[in-house]
Amino acid sequence: MIHYKSFLIKYAEIGVKGKNRFLFEDALVSQIGKALKRIDGDFKVHKEQGRIYVDALSEYDFDEVTGALKCVFGVAGICPLVQIEDNGFEDLCNHIIEYIDEVYDDKNITFKVNARRARKNYPLDSMGINREVGSVILDKFTEMKVDVHKPELMLNIEIRKQINIYSEVIPGPGGMPVGTAGKAMLLLSGGIDSPVAGYMVSKRGVELEAAYFHAPPYTSERAKQKVIDLAKKVAIYSGPIKLNIVNFTDVQLHIYEKCPYDELTIIMKRVMFKMAEHFAKESGAIGTITGESIGQVSSQTLQSLAVINDVCTMPVFRPVIAFDKQDIVDIALKIDTYETSILPYEDCCTTFVAKHPVTKPNLNMIKRSEEKLTGIEELIARAIETVEVVTVEAE
Ligand code: ATP
Ligand code: MG
Repeated sequence: MIHYKSFLIKYAEIGVKGKNRFLFEDALVSQIGKALKRIDGDFKVHKEQGRIYVDALSEYDFDEVTGALKCVFGVAGICPLVQIEDNGFEDLCNHIIEYIDEVYDDKNITFKVNARRARKNYPLDSMGINREVGSVILDKFTEMKVDVHKPELMLNIEIRKQINIYSEVIPGPGGMPVGTAGKAMLLLSGGIDSPVAGYMVSKRGVELEAAYFHAPPYTSERAKQKVIDLAKKVAIYSGPIKLNIVNFTDVQLHIYEKCPYDELTIIMKRVMFKMAEHFAKESGAIGTITGESIGQVSSQTLQSLAVINDVCTMPVFRPVIAFDKQDIVDIALKIDTYETSILPYEDCCTTFVAKHPVTKPNLNMIKRSEEKLTGIEELIARAIETVEVVTVEAE
């Protein structure tokens, strides 16, 4: 296998951001740099003429590098790159023959040469390069055939200050570089849905902060550790997550004592969302994110969602709202949160759940029940004051 010294990074959507394009490119360069810091090796990430390159300055592991780059939002494709000086056309052809020979064991393939001449003083134009290189390849590897429509090997040649040769494009995650779209507060539970929701919103460039509500001793240390572990997994993509761990026990017991059982979950959620907004505003987040999906449980019927949403003054982003469970599970598997999510530890919302919760709550009735919660403001204030904050980083 070729020992590549560089990678060309392809990005799709951020290419169309007009005047702000450089901001997106700079954010992408910065995010790639951070992702590569987590692996062994020395790398230089740089931007040149609308292209982003990763140069290896030391030995590295190929799979580790591509693995890290596959977790950087904004990366559409990763192209292992052979970069050579311009030492004349014959030298270029020699490198190309060597490249094809090393990368493609089986020469019984179709190909197309796709040359781009960014430097206009090169003696051959793009068409000329395509033609000449094509015939050199056909002479050398007689099994290879040209297919200009659906080639198995698309040989890209870019004539710049240096010359780039590449043909492989390893898919990246797509999306936008984190940090280009503001910040939002993820309500992160130990379940399957909320880590996926956080991943999805982060993929659009949004920085994440998170809030987890626990109820010790009704919920265990292990349940809390599970949420931290999930945040670690999401942080591989989103970058470090400031996690607000809220002790919700007294608030919950108060609600449990004063309100009808069948309304418990709805009222708890309303308080939880209100508190999450408090942390969101404090940290400059623009909205909250949840893993709610219509009809999944009684507190996620349209009526329940509406009654819970009634306390919110910020936008609530619910990226999996119309997803089937299996679709959410598929993403959880892809981002490796699933195995952690299904560990059987208790959640504060299930500990205090009624046997037959309301599925069509009435907002006025809920508000009337909440009037019985005298003194809850102090309990909420104390929970906010005693919040435990941990910055969770990818491992
Ligand atoms: P998940 O799989 O994300 O736990 P769920 O299907 O179990 O979701 P619920 O328990 O009804 O659904 O929660 C709906 C959403 O409310 C969650 O996706 C999450 O965003 C938020 N949430 C629930 N419990 C908590 C908690 N203890 N701390 C923080 N957020 C929570
Ligand atoms: Mg849950």
